[in-house]
Amino acid sequence: METKIFRLNEYINSGSLSEEDIEKLKQAGEILKKGGLVAFPTETVYGLGGNALLKDASKDIYAAKGRPSDNPLIVHISDMDELPQLVESVPEMAVKLAVKFWPGPLTMVMKKSDIVPYETTGGLDTVAIRMPEHKVANMLIKLSEVPVAAPSANISGRPSPTSAEHCIEDLSGRIEAIVDGGASAIGVESTIVDLSGEVPVLLRPGAITVEMLKECLQREVMLDPALEKPLDKNIRPKAPGMKYRHYAPKAPMIIIQSEYSSGDSETDNMSEADKKFEFDEGLKKITECAIRNIEEKCAEGLKLGIICSDETMDIYMHEINDQSGKLHSYRDKLEIMSAGQRANEITIAHNLFAVLREMDERAVDFIVAEGFSQKKLGYAIMNRMKKAAGQHVINV
Ligand code: AMP
Ligand code: MG
Repeated sequence: METKIFRLNEYINSGSLSEEDIEKLKQAGEILKKGGLVAFPTETVYGLGGNALLKDASKDIYAAKGRPSDNPLIVHISDMDELPQLVESVPEMAVKLAVKFWPGPLTMVMKKSDIVPYETTGGLDTVAIRMPEHKVANMLIKLSEVPVAAPSANISGRPSPTSAEHCIEDLSGRIEAIVDGGASAIGVESTIVDLSGEVPVLLRPGAITVEMLKECLQREVMLDPALEKPLDKNIRPKAPGMKYRHYAPKAPMIIIQSEYSSGDSETDNMSEADKKFEFDEGLKKITECAIRNIEEKCAEGLKLGIICSDETMDIYMHEINDQSGKLHSYRDKLEIMSAGQRANEITIAHNLFAVLREMDERAVDFIVAEGFSQKKLGYAIMNRMKKAAGQHVINV
């Protein structure tokens, strides 16, 4: 099938939807309503949408992505009015969280109602629901007049798509249409919290942090055990997606992590000078260890990808470009990219998947990546990075 590209020119230029943009969204909405598949931008990543109430549309989503069909889909709505019909009942906690964080990058798992087919929920009695904030996503869902099931619009296992180009790479010819609304702002997938039991459980970290959830609910939020350790193949995890290798570049990857790498120390009573010292020491340990690992792999004849940060780029460039540098003799075998600024984590979230995809493009054999802060948004970033690295982390 030929995939239509609906490029929203005015929206990409100015952030407002023109008549022409809306006309394109009407056509895309019509495709969704009839059971076809459309990839579209959201503030987290691009979604691959289908009518959530049609079991065949959900089956087609799994087929287009090559995704195992026990990995449930998130159902997207555009208005609070659409929620009650999809769930058995709306838990009080869901109301509190929706008031505070919807529309936005938060997905809530609740007991499903009968109208949601098991094909959409991967066989589960619960359904995951999100109301995206992105203007295009919101308008498209409204115009389709149905709840829209949408996992990330990538081939299963590849890094999530944060631009229409990424969707075209993965899904062109496999779906009816792709809506191009420019790059996704946040860049990592939504936070998922399970509200189907007594205790709220964080299933996937995202831009809405666990601290924000606790503050809003005024109670503890448990971390799903699968977040903290790699899963045993025999366990059926609560968020079934977690058992699959995810977000992964083609090349094997290791992460070099230091507990001091965040720059925002736990101990708030530390002086600024001490914090800076700790931060610099952490970065020194990371870059030294990374350079040792890079040298070792290059000596084996491999082409290496280095994922670093704006703060450390110069250190590698010096080792590469200086005649006496440790990496100088391997300079033709190195691909170096910064994921963003440690001091501004949102830049790292925004770039991460594009950098992982670019490493595939550059056909590296092995990736050495710096680790980032594990706090706040950093927790979500490191969750994705560890999955990409198959949990291979060296602590220094
Ligand atoms: P993606 O759409 O690719 O961001 O993946 C959606 C994620 O949401 C998957 O990893 C699922 O495991 C999770 N998810 C969706 N529905 C449920 C549910 N009913 N219970 C638990 N996790 C869910
Ligand atoms: Mg995904």
